[in-house]
Amino acid sequence: MPKDLIALTCPQCGASLECDSTNMKIFCQYCGTPILIKDFITQRRIDNSDKIISYNNIINNAINNNDYETVHKYYEKICNIEASENNLLLLSISSYLTGKLDFNKEWLKNLYNFSLTEHEQILQMLIKGTKANMQKEIESAKRISNEKIRKEKIRNIDLNYNSIIYELYKEEKNLKPIKCKCKQMLTFDMKVCPKCGRLRSEIVKKKKRRDNIIATVLISLIVVFILMIIIAL
Ligand SMILES: [Zn+2]
Ligand SMILES: [Zn+2]
Repeated sequence: MPKDLIALTCPQCGASLECDSTNMKIFCQYCGTPILIKDFITQRRIDNSDKIISYNNIINNAINNNDYETVHKYYEKICNIEASENNLLLLSISSYLTGKLDFNKEWLKNLYNFSLTEHEQILQMLIKGTKANMQKEIESAKRISNEKIRKEKIRNIDLNYNSIIYELYKEEKNLKPIKCKCKQMLTFDMKVCPKCGRLRSEIVKKKKRRDNIIATVLISLIVVFILMIIIAL
């Protein structure tokens, strides 16, 4: 059976060491310092989470500057430390924002594995990045001298990006808090109203029904108004 080896550096002399993960304690073969493997693993976990925090800070700055190459680069670094499903999804999304990958609607479903705040932030990044990329492509298409080709190109860019933006806005709306009949606001992760116990699904259904009634009344009024004008003429 192959042994699970851990690479570590001696905290005293900095020598590179290797040990079997079943060891509790080893002595540095160069300076003799005793090293507790448990402490080493804990320390490495702390170092890695510090790294991830600082990478995330760099990513947030880069998002503000629409610099998705940097965003992608640092998500790659994060995945090298921790290749979790969520981190890999962020890597895919940043690949899309740098034009390396096509947009995939499935990502939007998988975003529900994140916390609500993270989910909202990622959606905002997707919306902001998609709009910036669309703008960039339109700007370069505007430089095409042939008018027919230029118009065709711009129409295609519009079509392609608008369908993505439509999906993103729909998703953003899904995440918006809704108001319960008892006036309590319910965020997306609240399935039941904490104040009166109403189910979120019921509140959404009723709201839809009310919106439909309002729309029907409005349309009827417009039709009546138009008929009155026709009759008056
Ligand atoms: Zn040593
Ligand atoms: Zn309520």
